[in-house]
Amino acid sequence: MTVEEPAPMATQYTPSAPRPVQPPAPGERPRLMTVHAHPDDESSKGAATTARYVDEGHEVMVVTCTGGERGSILNPAMDRPDVLENMTAVRNAEMARAAEILGVQHVWLGFVDSGLPEGDPKPPLPEGCFALGDVEEQTAALVKVIREFRPHVIVTYDENGGYPHPDHIRTHVISMAAWEAAGDPARFPEAGAPWQPMKLYYGHGFSKARLEAFHNAIVESGQESPYAEWLENWKSDRPDPGTRVTTKVPCSDWFGRRDDALRAHATQIDPDSRFFFTPLEVQARVWPTEDYELVQSLVDTEVPEDDLFAGIPVEVGGERRRAG
Ligand SMILES: [Zn+2]
Repeated sequence: MTVEEPAPMATQYTPSAPRPVQPPAPGERPRLMTVHAHPDDESSKGAATTARYVDEGHEVMVVTCTGGERGSILNPAMDRPDVLENMTAVRNAEMARAAEILGVQHVWLGFVDSGLPEGDPKPPLPEGCFALGDVEEQTAALVKVIREFRPHVIVTYDENGGYPHPDHIRTHVISMAAWEAAGDPARFPEAGAPWQPMKLYYGHGFSKARLEAFHNAIVESGQESPYAEWLENWKSDRPDPGTRVTTKVPCSDWFGRRDDALRAHATQIDPDSRFFFTPLEVQARVWPTEDYELVQSLVDTEVPEDDLFAGIPVEVGGERRRAG
């Protein structure tokens, strides 16, 4: 298929079969949980959304499935023996700083990074890694965190993992399993009292349309675009995940916080990366949202939406708003 003319809003979610849910009580802070594969993913995917919800009085919990032990150092300035020797401690500290910048709570699920196998043929995944681990055990770990934090909304990756890293795909698998299991008293009774989240989304940050919007704005300003080659190489058989978006959350006021959080992962991001090339005011003008696909909902809502909590009765700062 071609992606020249992506059909907007191609996905229509199907409301889930009814299950008992518990909306936030008056005065109770609504809770959002985002599930990620590695430390830094929470800052490169949906970070401005989380900072916005925090500022608006929501509780936000980031779950990181692996410790990022096999992430390679992508910032030349950090490629030093002292950093390499203490990679786990360094990435723990980076993650803590990023969470502080975004204002989110954070929990490690404790599994080991699978690394990104490269080469032809690809080498086997390392023994003991997340992507080779037991799905049931991993689901139990996530169910336990869900039952403790009791999120109303969960955000995770789509079936392709957002991009084809084995840890991202496994993150999708256990998120879907945990969505099904967390509210079921018969599943994982040792993991706490059942809790059924109300909505589940996939994040879709890396759409071709967004990249084209940045590219065009830069070219119009008379500069050379760093995205030309990237766009040329965009495989025509690769559908644009942007066509699945149902929900665009305006969050341009928080793009600066997003970039600060990303820079806190100093080993993983080159400050000269093209990620930071498009000025924030241009981003705010041509693409002021972070984008999501509603996949499951136990409340009535209509797509397109501009709020992950649409349809959930929410009271923030003494004001009842956004009631379905
Ligand atoms: Zn990742």
